[in-house]
Amino acid sequence: MTSNISIPPPGRKVPPISVEQTVNKTALMFSGGIDSTAMLYRQLKDTQDIVYAHHINFVNSEGRASCELIAVRNIIEYLQKNVRRFRYSESTFVWPGKYYIGWDIITAMYIGSCVTGNIIEEDRRNASSKETQICYQIAIGDTKDDFGSYQWKSPIAQSIFLTASLRQPWLDQKIPQIIQPTANMSKKDLIENLPPELYALTWSCRHPVVNIEHNSYKECGKCRTCEGLKKIGHFRNIEFSMEKR
Ligand SMILES: [Zn+2]
Repeated sequence: MTSNISIPPPGRKVPPISVEQTVNKTALMFSGGIDSTAMLYRQLKDTQDIVYAHHINFVNSEGRASCELIAVRNIIEYLQKNVRRFRYSESTFVWPGKYYIGWDIITAMYIGSCVTGNIIEEDRRNASSKETQICYQIAIGDTKDDFGSYQWKSPIAQSIFLTASLRQPWLDQKIPQIIQPTANMSKKDLIENLPPELYALTWSCRHPVVNIEHNSYKECGKCRTCEGLKKIGHFRNIEFSMEKR
């Protein structure tokens, strides 16, 4: 077994190790659902990372973009006020196809590479950041339940993120790390560890039902996420006012 550690010869002074400040800059793709809300909450509460939350308005035939946006705006306000400050941005992906909508995670990871690319570029142009060692990260809100169900999508999405993070070959390649801070927790654990008032702000249903009389959206109770919440005893049958934004 060989070692790469070089020991200075006796009598020679060891140069002082320069201690640089290290900072994590973590981008999170934030939908306003339970998993990404719990991930964002924990990342703010349990780490010192500089956090950049990003929401994509997925405007498609499911009709959930408006509900998600109500949830997202309320959650952002709650977390900024009750936990700590962080950066927030939004983008919109409009897909008019009626029969096939694709996989959100695939789009989300491409947009994620744009979000982290923008953070890196912002730092490159900011001379003061040169004294700081920065670790760039993207956080994915997969839970323990996801592994074994749609796990096959994750490696594809991760490779899209890595490929889209490549820059022109003559530039310094800074590929952010992919982290999965909630991968060892089930959705049930995540829900039961969230402040109830924060959980109440989240929206999960994929096919909200518009209630014109109440000027509100209701959960459908039938889609994959509603069914999943019923299975773990956490279906709420909640209603969001359209004026809550
Ligand atoms: Zn539903």
